[in-house]
Amino acid sequence: MAKKQFQAESKRLLDLMIHSIYTNREIFLREVISNASDAIDKRYFKEIEAGNTGLGREDFEIRLTPNKENRTLTISDNGIGMTAEELENNLGIIANSGSLQFKTDNADSEIDTDIIGQFGVGFYSLFMVAKRIDVISRAYGSEQAYRWTSEGADGFEIEADTRDEVGTDVILTLRDDEDEDKYSDFLEEYRLRSLVRKYSDYIRYPIVMNCQKRREVEATEEEKAKEDYKPAYETYFEDERLNSMVPLWKKKKNEISEEEYNSFYKDNFFDWNDPLKVIHTNVEGLLSYDALLYIPSAVPFNFYTKDYQRGLRLYSSGVMIMEKCEDLLPDYLGFINGLVDSEDLSLNISREMLQQNRQLMAIAQRLEKKILETLKDMLNKDRETYLKFFENFGIQLKYGMYEEYGRNKDKLKDLVLWRSSTTGEMTTLSEYVSRMTSDQKYIYYAVGETKEKLLSMPQMDLFREKGYEVLLCTDEIDEFALMMLGNYEEKEFRNIAGSDLGLEQSEEEKKEMEEKTEAAKELLAAVKEALGDRISSVILSSRLKNHAVCFAAAEGLSLEMEKILKAQAALTGQADPDEIKADKILELNSEHPAYQALARAFEAGETETVKDYAFLLYDQALLIEGMPIEDPNEFSERICRLMK
Ligand code: ADP
Repeated sequence: MAKKQFQAESKRLLDLMIHSIYTNREIFLREVISNASDAIDKRYFKEIEAGNTGLGREDFEIRLTPNKENRTLTISDNGIGMTAEELENNLGIIANSGSLQFKTDNADSEIDTDIIGQFGVGFYSLFMVAKRIDVISRAYGSEQAYRWTSEGADGFEIEADTRDEVGTDVILTLRDDEDEDKYSDFLEEYRLRSLVRKYSDYIRYPIVMNCQKRREVEATEEEKAKEDYKPAYETYFEDERLNSMVPLWKKKKNEISEEEYNSFYKDNFFDWNDPLKVIHTNVEGLLSYDALLYIPSAVPFNFYTKDYQRGLRLYSSGVMIMEKCEDLLPDYLGFINGLVDSEDLSLNISREMLQQNRQLMAIAQRLEKKILETLKDMLNKDRETYLKFFENFGIQLKYGMYEEYGRNKDKLKDLVLWRSSTTGEMTTLSEYVSRMTSDQKYIYYAVGETKEKLLSMPQMDLFREKGYEVLLCTDEIDEFALMMLGNYEEKEFRNIAGSDLGLEQSEEEKKEMEEKTEAAKELLAAVKEALGDRISSVILSSRLKNHAVCFAAAEGLSLEMEKILKAQAALTGQADPDEIKADKILELNSEHPAYQALARAFEAGETETVKDYAFLLYDQALLIEGMPIEDPNEFSERICRLMK
């Protein structure tokens, strides 16, 4: 039979296929197996249509036969097969999908198929690994078989051949090995096995290979009894199914044990531990998908490194498309692992990317909602587990509140917890608000490194006295997240180290404070002069109870934010750390003996002592804030002078 040319368009396409559409040549196996599966689907359909209802999935098979001597890999199926005409049309014209046609022709049928093919290009990916392809096929309802042969761009031939049964063999003669490209790898059992597991594990028909096995040679009791007895081994071959066929997520929830969910997780997502929570959802409708999601029970060891890859595994009708699809999860849920399978994705022709992200975005939105609902439910019904979750990933939710200009803050505000200064437990904002006293206007928080440090802050005394609860913020992101939220149930947030605590003062108290300040005017001015630009002002405190001094930050940047932003600026070099400065107000407790000592020195006109005292108080305030003192030498000199 004369050689036929591929259509002109096809020639160019073929070249494109081999060289640029696919980035990853191993997917050829996925494509050829998907075709075989489609062919069986069609045969199954025809059989049922003809009244042969007794057939099961196990009656069909896709078989892989590597042959190292001939350098061939054969993929056989007992599917619908192709006539000579079909071989010519389906394999001779690139971008002609017999499968799409079949789907269209039978769109009204009740019989369910799961046909994967749609672009009519997958077949040509085989040329990425094969220098020659032979397709021997016998069509359903026909006695005659045909062989289609091609060595690539210069065309194909079709001739009569024989095949015992209906179905198709695709015989790939692999390209020659080159330094980096070892095509012969695709003849290795382990490689084929792992490729099937990776891409085609959930093909609904058995994918079978005759695999090499090893077994102990049976010995007689007599032989075994001998002192130098060592068992002998022999190799043999046995058919083995390589794919699991039914994806776990397609099974009914009540038929899946916790053990199954957990071992699937551990096998697939590189974690030794059982997950903290499994979320399994099947959605039917305009956009159908199944999702199997896992919340890890510990922070992945590489979570905070650049090696950690966010995203969910994406399948299209059981065929793996992408290992980590980042678009399926918002950043702040990057710790979630799992997969999504949908029939409704429009893939681009290489099936490596999605054509347009609309469906993906819609799925992502629903997954986010589902995950947050699950967390809320856990918080309400299983607080102990939620606390474990929060300890690991709560900080991610706080980042979520802050990221993207607070776009997600309202979704997250009822899921974040802070430790309470009064109960010592983790509390939600809603619980905090429910405990607020009738005269309390604001939600108070304190920021610092540890719970212990926060509880011993000078500013805390007043709140203790008033019986107001304070949220203890020990994560760097905390204050930024609260700032972004702005208020909760119309109650604003106030940092207890801020200058305006919004506390009600009686007229009497106010008047008394004004008088005291007036009387101390010159002393305060002397302190300010001594400290210069280090502080923006110095005032008498109405909140300090037991401590002599503290800072208050004026509106805007808080002292904790100053620390964090300074550290960031130093790290990134994007801003000058010295430029980042919160306005510090120095608050003095006029009831404190230290203040009174300062006042005595001032009245006695001891200018140098006043200066020493001013600096000592200032340095103390810095130390209490956990900020470095400017000049440790000076500081110790001053203390020594005091001790004389
Ligand atoms: P697609 O699978 O996207 O339709 P392909 O290029 O992979 O595109 O295949 C082209 C066509 O060739 C298929 O639509 C199908 O009609 C036919 N075909 C390929 N492989 C087989 C097979 N093993 N058995 C029967 N038909 C096949």
